[in-house]
Amino acid sequence: MEQGYEVTGLYFTSAFSKSYGKENRTPAAVVSRTIGIGLRITDLGQDYIDLIRDPKHGYGKNINPCIDCKIHMLSRARSVMDELGAPFLITGEVLGQRPMSQRRDALHVIERDSGLKGLILRPLSATLLPPTRAEQDGLIDREKLLGISGRSRMVQLQLAERYRIQGFSTPAGGCLLTDKNFAEKLRDSFRDQRTITSRDIQLLTVGRHFKFDNGVRIVLGRNNRENHVLMSLAPHGYHLFMPHGFPGPVAILSGTPDAEIKQAIGRLIITYSKQVPGQVRRIAFGSEIFDPGDPLPIHSMGLKKIGAEQ
Ligand code: SF4
Repeated sequence: MEQGYEVTGLYFTSAFSKSYGKENRTPAAVVSRTIGIGLRITDLGQDYIDLIRDPKHGYGKNINPCIDCKIHMLSRARSVMDELGAPFLITGEVLGQRPMSQRRDALHVIERDSGLKGLILRPLSATLLPPTRAEQDGLIDREKLLGISGRSRMVQLQLAERYRIQGFSTPAGGCLLTDKNFAEKLRDSFRDQRTITSRDIQLLTVGRHFKFDNGVRIVLGRNNRENHVLMSLAPHGYHLFMPHGFPGPVAILSGTPDAEIKQAIGRLIITYSKQVPGQVRRIAFGSEIFDPGDPLPIHSMGLKKIGAEQ
């Protein structure tokens, strides 16, 4: 902006984003308003979910395919660039800031595979990188760009202070794909399901997950908030089980519940409820109320837990 350009912000979101559905309240939205730029919000959609299953450049520490992810986002940015007739793209990438996607070779691959060779200006690290077309053509004065590298964010924080930018996001990611517990559950879903939708992903972000040997999945709320999320998801193709007359988790199930499965779900609900001696605990399943009997060890009911944090 200091070099005389009008800038449009691009914000890519997906079901893997912790702020999915709340994009207008994200730090990116707040900062855009503060510095006076428009912000376009784009949901990366099903193509992006499908890409996570088998990324060409592999995964980072968990199920985060950062290089493919950046290529995908920048390819989408390329379309916006063409639509606006913009001469180049700007990213906030810093050389060496992240282990996977901000190495010198990765920046090169991302640029090449997104069809943006020479068109990505990275003002924070520009003087450490080859000149972009905008610099070569004299559209941008390279002398005014920076040469930041490495993991420290000291210079960036000083810049934020200088430009009076507040409310920006912390470096710790808002991306579920870098979360170990989530990654485990998503890998398991990829193994079992041919298509994963954004609703499936939403379900993976809540509750305790269990699976029967035959692949039927159960999710139990861990608190009141999660119980409400599960109840709101239930009408979208799940069966809902609720504690009847005692406090405890609700459970939803994908697949068909036979008598044995219903009993196991009831027992699971009781296992994760507060134990009150002598209290009769029944389970509501639609209009049916049933007594599942005493809780049993999870493995003896043919169930296994999915994900690390249960
Ligand atoms: S952390 Fe998540 S959003 Fe960021 S580049 Fe990696 S996969 Fe993409």
